Amino acid sequence: ATKEVFPFNAAVTDSLRLIHDQRLFMNVEVIRDLTDEEVLVRADKNQICQVVINLIMNAVDAMEEKGTLTLATCLDETGERALLEVTDTGCGIPTENLSKIFDPFFTTKGLGKGTGLGLSMAYGVMEENQGRIFVSRTGPEGTTFVLELPRITVSS
Ligand code: ADP
Ligand code: MG
Repeated sequence: ATKEVFPFNAAVTDSLRLIHDQRLFMNVEVIRDLTDEEVLVRADKNQICQVVINLIMNAVDAMEEKGTLTLATCLDETGERALLEVTDTGCGIPTENLSKIFDPFFTTKGLGKGTGLGLSMAYGVMEENQGRIFVSRTGPEGTTFVLELPRITVSS
């Protein structure tokens, strides 16, 4: 992994730029809610963007291509950890599946539609970067996935 220091907001803007041409968003409204203050993290930016893109594609699947996708960055209550939240207005995750979604090959999508590897890959990437991925909320109104990384402060 090639780690670099970058503003966590760039993981949102870069990921959206990378998938911009894919016509994924025909009926999806995308809302960006990014920190004004610069919040830095140290991680492999390409890997983190891959994770964000995976979360976006899962969100689009869950909304059956129609709904609102919100990408938000903020700090946790201690100010020591940077959070990136991906929220959809999709179908939600049934309680009985919550303990399985990060397992390799777990998918509820049809044959040829899902490999079940996206979230297990995401889990490994976040671990390698001293971070975490978790579901903070899910239900009939939709789902929020959170990526968490230590905040880097550059002292002069
Ligand atoms: P895949 O997308 O190939 O099925 P993932 O590892 O990305 O594999 O996701 C595993 C499963 O977790 C999905 O099949 C789906 O059941 C569930 N899931 C993931 N993201 C969402 C979401 N945003 N809303 C509802 N269910 C989700
Ligand atoms: Mg997926």
